[in-house]
Amino acid sequence: MTSQPVLSKPIESMNSFDIARQQLAIVADKLNLNHDVHEMLKHPKRELTVNFPVSMENGTVKMFTGYRVHHNLTRGPAKGGIRFHPETSLDEVRALAFWMTVKCAVVNIPFGGAKGGVVCDPAVLTRPELEDLTRRYTTEIAIMLGPDEDIPAPDVGTNGQIMAWIMDTYSMLKGHTVPAVVTGKPLAIGGSEGRIEATGRGVVTVAREALQAAGAKISGSSVAVQGFGNVGSVAALLFHRAGAKVVAVSDVQGAVLNKRGLDIDALLAYSKRTGSLVGFPESEPMPADALLTLPVDVLVPAALQNQITAQNAAAVRARFVIEGANGPTTPQADIILRGNDVTVVPDVVANAGGVTVSYFEWVQGLQSFFWTEAEVNAKLEQIMVRAFAQVQEAAKEHRCDLRTAAYIVGVGRVAEAISARGIYP
Ligand code: NAD
Repeated sequence: MTSQPVLSKPIESMNSFDIARQQLAIVADKLNLNHDVHEMLKHPKRELTVNFPVSMENGTVKMFTGYRVHHNLTRGPAKGGIRFHPETSLDEVRALAFWMTVKCAVVNIPFGGAKGGVVCDPAVLTRPELEDLTRRYTTEIAIMLGPDEDIPAPDVGTNGQIMAWIMDTYSMLKGHTVPAVVTGKPLAIGGSEGRIEATGRGVVTVAREALQAAGAKISGSSVAVQGFGNVGSVAALLFHRAGAKVVAVSDVQGAVLNKRGLDIDALLAYSKRTGSLVGFPESEPMPADALLTLPVDVLVPAALQNQITAQNAAAVRARFVIEGANGPTTPQADIILRGNDVTVVPDVVANAGGVTVSYFEWVQGLQSFFWTEAEVNAKLEQIMVRAFAQVQEAAKEHRCDLRTAAYIVGVGRVAEAISARGIYP
C-alpha cells in the first residue's frame, strides 16, 4: 500500500490543483523522488492571467478572464488544450497543466504540460462573439505561444473551428501562416486525419488492453459513458462498433438508458439534429447521476473532473473505470474503488490518444507532409498499447494501482530529463 502524506485539509474539500499535488506527493514517496525535483513539479513554471474586453452583439462591452499555464517544459514545448467553461479557474488550469506534463511523459512524446481556459459559457455566445473572444484571448496569450514554445488544442467547450481562429490570429500577428502553432485544426488548414476521434479511440484501445489483461473482452461487455462531447461520443461509438452494449450515455442536459444497448449511430444523428440526447426514441430517461452507479462492466467518465467522489464511489458497480475525462476520480474515491476491486485506468493513460495524435499533427505540420488516417491510427495504436503495457508493468513491479504506476512512469521520465539537463544557471 502507498503511504499517504499528511494533508492540511480533507481531500474532498480540495480543488483540482490540491488533488494533483496530492497525487504527486503519493508518487514522490513511492519513487523516492529527489526533493528538489518534487519542489519543481509542485509549481507551474509560468502562469498568465488576462482580462480582456469583447464587444457583444447587443452593443455592450463585456470583460472576460482567461488563463494560460505552462507547468513543466523540460521534455519539450508546452502542450495542452484550451477550455471554455463558466467554472474554469486558475487552479483548475494549473491541475490540468500538471496532468499534461505527466500524460505526455507517460506516452513518451516530446512535450511539456500546459493548459488554458477562458471563464465563459460558449453555449450562450453568438458565433461572432465567440470568434471575437477567441481572437482577443489568443492575442493576449500570444507571448506564450508558438510551434517551438506552446501548442494549444481543443478541450471542453472548444473545437476545430476555435483552433482555426487561434491559428489564423497567431498567423496574422506573425505575418505568415503558422499551422504548427495549434492542433485539432480542421483538415483544410493542416489538421490531421484521425485527430477528432483520437481521444475516444485511445480510450477504447486502452479499455481493450485492460479488459484483456483481466481475461475479459470488449465484445459483449456493457458500457456506460458520462459526457457525449468529443471524447464521450466517439468512445461510445467505437465501443458500440467493437460489439459492446452501450447501455447508457449522458450529457449536461440528462441521461438515456437502454438495457439492450443503445444504437449509438442513431443517437449521434439524433443529438446532432436536436442538440440533446434527451428524448431519444429508443431509450428511457434516467437521472444523470444514476449513470455512474449502473451495474456495467465498463464505466467511462468523459465529462468533467471530480465526478466519482467519496460520496458515490462505494456505489460504483462497474468492474473497470476508464477515465476519458481529466481528473474524474478524487483520491478518496480512488481508495474506495481499489478496496472494491474496481480497476481504474487513469486519465494520464486512458485519454492520452488526443495529445498523441496532436503530436502527429504537429509533426506533420512542421514537415508539411501528411499521413493517411490508417497510418495515424496504426501509430496511435502502437503508442497506446506500449504506454498501457509499461504502466501495467510498473504496477506489477511496485505493487500499486494503475494511477500510481502511471505517475511512476511519467514523473520518473520528467525527473530523468530534469536531472540530465540540470538546473540553469
Ligand atoms: P466537450 O465539450 O466536447 O464535451 C463535454 C461533454 O460533457 C458534453 O457532452 C457535455 O454536455 C457533457 N457534460 C458536462 N457536464 C456534464 C455532467 N455534469 N454530466 C454529464 N455530462 C456532462 O469536451 P471533451 O473535449 O469531450 O472533453 C471531455 C473531458 O475529456 C474533459 O475532462 C477533457 O479535459 C478531457 N479530454 C479531452 C480531450 C480532447 O481531445 N478533447 C483529450 C483528453 C482529455
